[in-house]
Amino acid sequence: MSEPASNLPTTPQLRDRARAALDRIGVSVPEGDDLHARSPITGERLFGLRATTAEQAREAIGQAAEAFRTWRVTPPPARGDLVRTLGELLRAHKSDLADLITVEAGKIRSEALGEVQEMIDICEFAVGLSRQLYGRTIASERPGHRLAETWHPLGVVGVISAFNFPAAVWSWNTAVALVCGDAVVWKPSELTPLVSLAAGHLLDRAIEQTRAPRELHRLLLAGRDVGEQLVDDPRVALISATGSTRMGREVGPRVAARFGRVLLELGGNNATVVAPSADLDLALQGIVFAAAGTAGQRCTTLRRLIVHRDIADQLVERLAGVYGRLPIGDPFADGTLVGPLISDAAADAMAAALERAQADGGKIVAGGRRLDGLGGAYVEPAIVRMPRQTAIVREETFAPILYVLTYDTFEEAVALHNDVPQGLSSSIFTRDQQEAERFLAADGSDCGIANVNIGTSGAEIGGAFGGEKETGGGRESGSDAWRAYMRRATNTVNYSSALALAQNVSFLS
Ligand code: NAD
Repeated sequence: MSEPASNLPTTPQLRDRARAALDRIGVSVPEGDDLHARSPITGERLFGLRATTAEQAREAIGQAAEAFRTWRVTPPPARGDLVRTLGELLRAHKSDLADLITVEAGKIRSEALGEVQEMIDICEFAVGLSRQLYGRTIASERPGHRLAETWHPLGVVGVISAFNFPAAVWSWNTAVALVCGDAVVWKPSELTPLVSLAAGHLLDRAIEQTRAPRELHRLLLAGRDVGEQLVDDPRVALISATGSTRMGREVGPRVAARFGRVLLELGGNNATVVAPSADLDLALQGIVFAAAGTAGQRCTTLRRLIVHRDIADQLVERLAGVYGRLPIGDPFADGTLVGPLISDAAADAMAAALERAQADGGKIVAGGRRLDGLGGAYVEPAIVRMPRQTAIVREETFAPILYVLTYDTFEEAVALHNDVPQGLSSSIFTRDQQEAERFLAADGSDCGIANVNIGTSGAEIGGAFGGEKETGGGRESGSDAWRAYMRRATNTVNYSSALALAQNVSFLS
């Protein structure tokens, strides 16, 4: 393993960098002692912040509900104008927002820039969508009748987001919700308040520039308690919550209890099958990015490698070689590929998982150590060969651990693949077309995302994103995911002079 750069930026340098980015964006930090912004790069505190109180949150939801009343009757292409302006501001401040993402989430520079690019992309997508919120015309069974469906704005959308995509997940929800005619109240991760302030402020600027209702978007800078308040508020029509399965297990039933709508994007335990015919050079690249990229902190991170027995030793040896050369350290530095984990707790969870895996007969073949003396939680991504898919392999540990399992038949590979509680992302490396198609078929991968000859992570915004089982079943971003942010009305219009009843029912005739 290459040694990490010992010349990490200092906390004062990170504070200055964050402050400069915030200044360029034009946002002022509400200083206080309720919450704090910290950087995983040094593991130290940057700023103390004032949090949104329960009373302010209640008020903010009311303001958003009021703004919705105007916004819902604003023509969708005019709503698109707001999102176009947001996209332009994101383009202008791409580097600033990426700086804040690196400071607060520890992402390497190119991934932080990629996150902002994804925000720009979804804005463009949503602008196009603002002229394409199509309903259907349906053949009526009655003469002189027209049957159609109309899509209407839904209401206030409550967005709860996780630390690892601190800005992009908000934009997937918000850009689409806004063109759909909804107002948004955002409860971001308490671990990334500066990114949230910056992204929220760019939207405030876009709202001002386009003269949209001022309170169309409200930011709740707070912890889980205010998140729970948002979840329970009957004025919030949809809760779109991204985070751990633990969180979704709490949020889902609470929203259901008040008959609200919920869109859950929860944990994954993603796998790649590597077949004997696979192009191993391609597989190697795809696996390393998906497993070690973002320091293993993507919901789509590759956590299980299911390799055909005939090629397992060869592939694992090559992977271990690449893992041994991965540059770990300052995420701002050119060449770094693995930045810090978000917290000491994440590094502890990784160490505990590795211990459990070894107790189950697993053998660590690469990495796994925490690098001492760096302040932040820097770890070597690990590869562990497992004798079978034990309980720890079936859990999501949010850290760079890649468990390797072997298989003999394709059926066995698919069975192993699907035998976990989560169902987010999956892939197969193969040059056998029949095998590729079988992996994508109804009895193949059971995930919301199934790929061929690429890894499990790094989805494009054009597709619907999300997964099955304990991943929560929600879909957001592209394709027709917009429908979750609208309500559907079925309309029957009688343009004849007779009142014909459906199913030929006769009454008063
Ligand atoms: P987390 O569950 O700890 O927190 C996520 C958000 O939920 C935070 O804003 C938090 O304050 C809020 N929250 C927690 N409990 C709540 C409750 N009871 N009521 C209301 N709000 C509550 O997750 P995290 O550690 O920030 O993020 C990592 C997790 O998120 C991983 O499991 C990862 O797989 C998942 N994730 C999923 C997706 C996806 O699209 N499927 C995307 C990113 C991250």
